Amino acid sequence: MQVYLDNNATSMVSPTVREAMMPFFGELYGNPSSMHFFGGHVAKYVKEARAKVADLFNVSPDEIIFTSCGSESDNHAIRGYLEAHPEKKHIVTTKVEHPAVLNVFKYLEKTKGYRTTYLSVNNKGMISLDELKEALTPDTALISVMTANNEIGNIFPIGDIGAIAKERGIIFHTDAVQAAGKLPMDLKALNVDMLSLSGHKIHAPKGIGVLYIRKGVHVSPFIIGGHQESGRRAGTENVPYIVGLGQACEDAKKSMFDESKRIGALRDKLEKGLTQSIPYTHINGDPEHRMYNTTNIGFEFVEGEAILLHLSKEGIAASSGSACTSGSLEPSHVLMSMGIPFTYAHGSCRFSLSKFTTEEEIDYALKTIPPIIQNLRDLSPFYDDFITKQKK
Ligand SMILES: *Cc1c(COP(=O)(O)O)cnc(C)c1O
Repeated sequence: MQVYLDNNATSMVSPTVREAMMPFFGELYGNPSSMHFFGGHVAKYVKEARAKVADLFNVSPDEIIFTSCGSESDNHAIRGYLEAHPEKKHIVTTKVEHPAVLNVFKYLEKTKGYRTTYLSVNNKGMISLDELKEALTPDTALISVMTANNEIGNIFPIGDIGAIAKERGIIFHTDAVQAAGKLPMDLKALNVDMLSLSGHKIHAPKGIGVLYIRKGVHVSPFIIGGHQESGRRAGTENVPYIVGLGQACEDAKKSMFDESKRIGALRDKLEKGLTQSIPYTHINGDPEHRMYNTTNIGFEFVEGEAILLHLSKEGIAASSGSACTSGSLEPSHVLMSMGIPFTYAHGSCRFSLSKFTTEEEIDYALKTIPPIIQNLRDLSPFYDDFITKQKK
């Protein structure tokens, strides 16, 4: 059996999306900018797709820009806005952002002289609105806070942040790659000025993204060239992928409500099953404010990498909370920012579900994972030590 529980890393292109894209690899190959019927016909589909994306967020189609990925959208939003508004030199984000935001902030700090604030998180991975308010100054240009965290699934209070930003006249960008298409999001009501989305996290292909820019917000183009995307992002449109993303957004809007309940129940079953059958486990994140498809579990006395390798052998794909850098095992910046004790930050695994996850798969995971953890613990000198001490 093959069980894919790594949907926060990437997701399967859904059959409906694949089907919608196919004609654009075949007879519908026109350039949407062309004057002739070949182009005009294709342009109609691009327009339709843009409307479908806009519909997901209750915004206007001309506020939607197609990009090449979520990372490009994050870069474009932050760097493009600051380039167009060079007077203010302070920017605010959190310690738990994706590298596509975090490393942009570090870059701006090092090379462009920006003053940066990285909001801290508590032991559940939540930020504090008071800390945010205190960080803001008349020199603050932009706030970038993700809608949902990719590692622990936490959902941040972006409506509150949007209101604070609006009141102070500060631009608010949110990386919604993990939330878009999974949670209902009315960007006008949330006071979001810019938003990033990535196709491959919502069953469209890799290599397509969206940047929403609220009407009236001026952002410098990230790619300069032709007049595509109303001069905001040059380059001939990636028509098949744009059409595919439009389909994915339409599908998401239709099934979001029902799927959130079904997936949430499966996630809970997995999480409860694992934490109840395996001692010395901890849930990383805030169970009260969390994406319904994600669970991040810390297993004491074992290495995340070892767990993943054994899971992979048994046909289960998941992800660890640590990344192998320069030979040393560095726990994730998210878990470290939360102050998660070393003993289980290293042994943390992320399981992320999708609308294609079935109950049979979860049952298989529940049967397969506990003995793997037990075997690894039996090999661990730390566990041996711990158990010996317990017995005394
Ligand atoms: C995956 C991800 C990105 C990057 O998207 P790409 O399309 O892979 O560039 C950005 N932010 C978050 C939160 C993500 O999970």
